[in-house]
Amino acid sequence: MRWALIGASDIAETRVIEALRKRNHEVVGVHSSSAERGAAFASRNQLEKHTNSLEELLSWDIDAVYISTTNELHAQQAIAAAKAHKHILCEKPLAMTAADAEEMIATAKENHVVLATNHHLRNSARNAAIKDLISKGAIGRVHSMQVNHVVSLPERLRGWRLANPEKGAGVILDITVHNLDLVRFLLGEEMVSVVAVASNDGFKAPGVEDESVCIFTTESRILVTTHESFNVQHSVPSLEVFGSDGTIFATRVLSQDPVGDVYLRTSAGEQKVEITPQENLYTTLLEKFELAVLTGSKPASSGEDGMQAVVGALAALKSAAENRRVLLEEVK
Ligand code: NDP
Repeated sequence: MRWALIGASDIAETRVIEALRKRNHEVVGVHSSSAERGAAFASRNQLEKHTNSLEELLSWDIDAVYISTTNELHAQQAIAAAKAHKHILCEKPLAMTAADAEEMIATAKENHVVLATNHHLRNSARNAAIKDLISKGAIGRVHSMQVNHVVSLPERLRGWRLANPEKGAGVILDITVHNLDLVRFLLGEEMVSVVAVASNDGFKAPGVEDESVCIFTTESRILVTTHESFNVQHSVPSLEVFGSDGTIFATRVLSQDPVGDVYLRTSAGEQKVEITPQENLYTTLLEKFELAVLTGSKPASSGEDGMQAVVGALAALKSAAENRRVLLEEVK
């Protein structure tokens, strides 16, 4: 497939261009709001074209676009791409409001193009193994789980994420959305409500949370605690699923890389779970995207999945701001 990049971003440059090329896709060019940044990005990444006109990019001979601009731009750019009949892989959070996400999904449907969200964690072989253990009943009935997704935000990413609420700054729109997508993937259930507490103790950016703890309740009343932070040094992010007959414990499986260990603990003792070898989470995601374009199958994380994660994150933000339990229905 032939792709264009909307956004001269870090994630495009450090992860996605490489993954596209590994899958033998052609990356034709990039859109940047700055002609200078676009030219430099194209040159560094050996892209033939660059433009600061979205209209021009959408007139190129391309099949798909990858959108990795700041969060407030995702919706309008995806809607324009869908209207130009381009398939779309869009970064998370899919949008900043549920209404925008809905419009993106509807426009993609109307124009018969695939809309996928770049929630990479469900493409991890480790997380697939955890899902498999839960579905097989290896720990019995799941009653609760914890996701400890606490990291030190790399220096190079300490820009708009910490400073610009209007661009979607804050750890909840950045990391909680990933946690929500992973939890939905693992449990196969929707979140119903959330109680969240947020703080900005580390970076002290006004109005932007850099740490949060959320307790979501699912349809069958599974209690899901997610803890996310930009400001924890030397952490080992982990995930734990508690069932009536055992526990699944996993370390470092919240990574962009295919790393981490998964353990199953039951009355039979502790067992390290064998994982299918995997090269790259983003190439796994692209493989499913290609299939969706060719056959109409569901991409790894669809527009609807992206929207559910956004709704959960917006409910968490509302809960933290209003100091009360919020139903996800309230932010739809
Ligand atoms: P960047 O800050 O690298 O890029 C975002 C935008 O900022 C770019 O589109 C660019 O605008 C602008 N920009 C880039 N460099 C500069 C600069 N030096 N000066 C001024 N503006 C600049 O963001 P990320 O790559 O970290 O994130 C982009 C998107 O990807 C976000 O939505 C984020 O949530 C998501 N993301 C997803 C990840 C995942 O694993 N799925 C991981 C990381 C990010 P322009 O395009 O106009 O040049």
